[in-house]
Amino acid sequence: MSFELTPRTAPGVSVVGAAESLVEPFAGRAEAADVENEMCRQNFDDLLASGISSAFVPEELGGFGLESIHDWIVAIATLARGDASTAIAITMHHAIGRRMAQAYSLAKTDLGPDDERTNNLAEPLRKMVAGEMLICATATEAGTDNLHPVTEVVRHRQDDRDGWRINGRKIFVTMSPIATHVSTVARVRDDDGDDMANIVLPMDTPGLIPQNDWDALGMRGSGSQSVVFKDAWVPESAFGRMGPWGKWSLQYLEFRAIANIVLVGAFLGIAEAAHDIALEKLLTRSRVGQLAAEQSGIQNLVGEMALELAQCRAVLGAAGVEMDAYCERHSTSAASMEDAHGLMSDYQAAKWTVNRGAIGVVSKAMDLLGGAGYTNSDALARLYRDVRAGPFMQPFGPAELREYVGQVTLGQYPDS
Ligand SMILES: Cc1cc2nc3c(=O)[nH]c(=O)nc-3n(C[C@H](O)[C@H](O)[C@H](O)COP(=O)(O)OP(=O)(O)OC[C@H]3O[C@@H](n4cnc5c(N)ncnc54)[C@H](O)[C@@H]3O)c2cc1C
Repeated sequence: MSFELTPRTAPGVSVVGAAESLVEPFAGRAEAADVENEMCRQNFDDLLASGISSAFVPEELGGFGLESIHDWIVAIATLARGDASTAIAITMHHAIGRRMAQAYSLAKTDLGPDDERTNNLAEPLRKMVAGEMLICATATEAGTDNLHPVTEVVRHRQDDRDGWRINGRKIFVTMSPIATHVSTVARVRDDDGDDMANIVLPMDTPGLIPQNDWDALGMRGSGSQSVVFKDAWVPESAFGRMGPWGKWSLQYLEFRAIANIVLVGAFLGIAEAAHDIALEKLLTRSRVGQLAAEQSGIQNLVGEMALELAQCRAVLGAAGVEMDAYCERHSTSAASMEDAHGLMSDYQAAKWTVNRGAIGVVSKAMDLLGGAGYTNSDALARLYRDVRAGPFMQPFGPAELREYVGQVTLGQYPDS
């Protein structure tokens, strides 16, 4: 098929190959998860057994050693062809796992493989391989944006140990019903400044209270419930500063651009699944003795759908290649804020094109199949609902995205 995305690195070939083997079983289970509004645990068992959940873990620790963002996007798009809810959920875990794998590799180079700090950084990665660590990631809160978290951590001493206490409420915490850990961002105000902090906690931390309130139009199997933090204890080792509150830091800009562009892959995967469902039926369905695929109106609409899908693939593939080139360029020297805004802007360009295009593709597939696709027993109805979640993923919803891209294009780099 035209412009189809394929992996560019050897670890990518392994991860995408493993993802391909899961498309059919995931698709077979997707309807039940959607109807029951529950996460499909069997999918996550498969992700673990196939090695996909530890894709970024270095090979010497038992993972695939994936590094390419492009190939990560292709893997997530592939999984989403079977079940988009599972695909977005594992993306959250991958994003944090990738960051942990990078910290480990850096320590291994700088301190040596046998240094105690290197071993400490290897520990969570080993746990991922063993299925003992599955991490959800949350920034979103009601009434604010990702740069201005209202959730707050304050100094707190407990059982003779220095640490922190966290209070707040996060929404859309995808995969939290089955995750072992949560990675979150919060505000910290003290003598060291007014900063953003990153915190990773076990889900069974006392005072971490899942709300079991996920019930949405689509992505119903993603477990994106709210989570409340009520005086939850945060040990010093689980706390890290990320830069000033309300402002982009280099680290946060890069992390959000890279981790979030991969989510766009899930919406491409939904469009690909809708495209394939439509074609399969049109090639076998007849009306008044004429094969659907032989009717000119249908041929035109299929053409439009194929063109829109080609655009989505081409733009997302190019953005993935650009992300890899950025990482390569800045592997030894830090990027500037302007570079990182350029990266974020590229992500927004891909998001704009692909999320709108994917909605268009699914909608055209619906027009092509008519009433049959509209019934809830047809997978297309679920894809139609799932694909609608794409555009408003933060940072930058549809009402904000063009302004941001315009600013960056004009050389006006917003710091908040
Ligand atoms: C299925 C799904 C899974 C998700 N998973 C996660 C996850 O795992 N982790 C996570 O952190 N997040 C997650 N999210 C959240 C997602 O990234 C977005 O942050 C979230 O959907 C944005 O919510 P919102 O549209 O209600 O809020 P907002 O971003 O606040 O947007 C509200 C609307 O108002 C517009 N607006 C612009 N300016 C203003 C203003 N001044 N006042 C009011 N409104 C304004 C916005 O552009 C937008 O259209 C998930 C979302 C979905 C749908």
